[in-house]
Amino acid sequence: MPAHKYNATVVQKIQIRPNLMILRVATDEPRSEFSAGQYTTLGLYGSEPRSANSEPEAIPVKPEKLIQRAYSIASARHETRQFEFYISQVKTGQLTPRLFHLEVGDKVFVGRRIVGVFNLSNAPKDADVVMIATGTGITPYISFLRSHVMERPKSKMVVIQAAAHQGDLGYFSELSFLDSAFPNFYYLPTLTDAGDTWPGHRLWIEEMLESGVLGQETGVACDPKRTHFYLCGNPVMVKNVSQWLTEHGYQKKTRRTEGTLFVEEF
Ligand SMILES: Cc1cc2nc3c(=O)[nH]c(=O)nc-3n(C[C@H](O)[C@H](O)[C@H](O)COP(=O)(O)OP(=O)(O)OC[C@H]3O[C@@H](n4cnc5c(N)ncnc54)[C@H](O)[C@@H]3O)c2cc1C
Repeated sequence: MPAHKYNATVVQKIQIRPNLMILRVATDEPRSEFSAGQYTTLGLYGSEPRSANSEPEAIPVKPEKLIQRAYSIASARHETRQFEFYISQVKTGQLTPRLFHLEVGDKVFVGRRIVGVFNLSNAPKDADVVMIATGTGITPYISFLRSHVMERPKSKMVVIQAAAHQGDLGYFSELSFLDSAFPNFYYLPTLTDAGDTWPGHRLWIEEMLESGVLGQETGVACDPKRTHFYLCGNPVMVKNVSQWLTEHGYQKKTRRTEGTLFVEEF
């Protein structure tokens, strides 16, 4: 089995659901300090076994190929040796079924570069920030919060996390704890297919914005001059919520244009 490019070791694996896991890896060599919200690559060779609950891959891969994909880092930005990832298994995918087969002690490839422009550097320290996520799109916000929540006491920071079921709300405990511990942080989870015992919201994200729930529960306004919006996750959610926000005066920040709407699609 080829292993010459592997440069990191799995130190923790938390299987949250059959197709969702938190994977922590320790790199053999430290990386540079990064910006919260950035991503790197994980890689495994095509010869590695696939998880028991995966399906045959849609596009077969050669055994000697190092399959690499981008993954956001959930860790705080000052971590330089241990990195946390939150990964969803695509059952017919090339890499994720192999990542889901990993166990503690196994070797893996981690890219040397940590890159990406999805970060808080454009949001002034007193600007309010609304972070909206579906699925593993919550990952960069965990890094934002672990890195910056204490540094921004004058900024209201809100996470709106949407999922079908409660078990799909990754980092629910950590986000609930932050909500109770920091007066400037608000956690608004919402479920579209909740059971009877769910006490929280049952709205689509656009409905939460349209109905004024955001303003009522946090005091944060949908005001492009004051509030910066971040969207991360499913491309359909990103498209629909971007459209709602642009209809309400927001402009998407790109390399060439200024704006207070920041977008990352997985
Ligand atoms: C900047 C960036 C950050 C990312 N961060 C994360 C992260 O934190 N966690 C994470 O789980 N993923 C993340 N991804 C997605 C990741 O890079 C892979 O695309 C994903 O894990 C699938 O890889 P695969 O090799 O298993 O599937 P592939 O073999 O690449 O894909 C097989 C097919 O599945 C479909 N597919 C691809 N991705 C998904 C998906 N997420 N859900 C459903 N179907 C899909 C595609 O249509 C594709 O044709 C990120 C992507 C980018 C660009």
